[in-house]
Amino acid sequence: MKYNENNIFAKILRKEIPCKKIYEDDYVLSFYDINPQKKIHALVIPKGKYIDLDDFSLNASSEEIVGLLKGINIVAKKLGISSDMGKGYRALANISEHGGQEVPHLHFHLFGGEKVGKMVE
Ligand code: 5GP
Repeated sequence: MKYNENNIFAKILRKEIPCKKIYEDDYVLSFYDINPQKKIHALVIPKGKYIDLDDFSLNASSEEIVGLLKGINIVAKKLGISSDMGKGYRALANISEHGGQEVPHLHFHLFGGEKVGKMVE
């Protein structure tokens, strides 16, 4: 599958549509989910054009992979939910059809600020 340049997160990265930004560096952009499922619901996306976690694992550079993982921790710290500064959170990536992925640009959901509940419905 080819990366779709018109997906909503590509538009957010190009600043064609706004987002409530939490954090940005060379590798990631993080912003609040428009339809929060928990008290805190943030998204962390790589700046590179990757469809999902499998595409990212296969094709991203080592720097991009480290940048995304570090970015998740930086955002969790900023939100006060990291395990060292808060009470923890759930990081979740939906992958393709059976994973229920709606936006075809890799993103991690960070859910926190309260008990997140059962892992899978
Ligand atoms: P997925 O189902 O692909 O894992 O999650 C996509 C997420 O993107 C959903 O939680 C949805 O609420 C969020 N989303 C969709 N469109 C927008 C948007 O325009 N802005 C923001 N901030 N989040 C969005």
